[in-house]
Amino acid sequence: MYVDSHCHINFPELAVKLPEILEKMTANQVSHALCVSVDLPDFPQVLALAEQYPHIYASVGVHPDYEDTIEPSAEQLVDLAQHPKIIAIGETGLDYFRLKGDLEWQRERFRQHIRASRLSRKPLIIHTRAASEDTIRIMREEGAGTDRGGVAGVMHCFTESLEVAEAAVEMGFYISFSGILTFKSAKDLQAVAKALPLDRILIETDSPYLAPSPHRGKMNEPGFVRHVGEFLADLRWISSQEVQEVTTRNFFKLFQFATHSKSDCL
Ligand SMILES: [Zn+2]
Ligand SMILES: [Zn+2]
Repeated sequence: MYVDSHCHINFPELAVKLPEILEKMTANQVSHALCVSVDLPDFPQVLALAEQYPHIYASVGVHPDYEDTIEPSAEQLVDLAQHPKIIAIGETGLDYFRLKGDLEWQRERFRQHIRASRLSRKPLIIHTRAASEDTIRIMREEGAGTDRGGVAGVMHCFTESLEVAEAAVEMGFYISFSGILTFKSAKDLQAVAKALPLDRILIETDSPYLAPSPHRGKMNEPGFVRHVGEFLADLRWISSQEVQEVTTRNFFKLFQFATHSKSDCL
């Protein structure tokens, strides 16, 4: 079975057809999904999904692309993360591609999330785009990662270089690949996915965005993580069965603090 390590099924376009989406997860051998929070006003919906469905987990955090929203403190995030179905802090990070100008507020927000992860001992979900140097620097400064007494996490929807991936892996982080991996233009990213140790790799959809081939251009959904998994299997010359086993094991290893007591998990 596959796990979709990052989706947004609370977004209206997916939420309106949730029963169909959950059925298609089962049909595509996707056993669990992590529904990732992007801002505090949306958090109650994300939490409600995780409370309603045993195989849906959730996170708490404020995305770096959301400029005009409630700014979370580390203490507030820790407080919200106490719920047993909240297994991660994020998504957080830096995005210098979408937003320009003085982005000090993004860096400060990122620091608050790293502090919340250390305090709550829940892993980080990091979004980084056109900002890898500052991302790695701030992770080091704030003590993210198991090598600094912090908690590891995942670099989600990874599109950076092998050097950036290796720097994160050294800190104890996992690297998650989305449908972008399946795009014909993604040769460099495919090389990264081929070079990394398998026991550091996760897969995701980031749905409703970035549908993998052969659904490119359509609305994405957690069931489509299967296509990312099958592509990865071909790329690495291993069976899709092995990709299922390894990436699912990786997911539950990373999030074990929050998931180990659940009998429906590996
Ligand atoms: Zn993201
Ligand atoms: Zn996302």
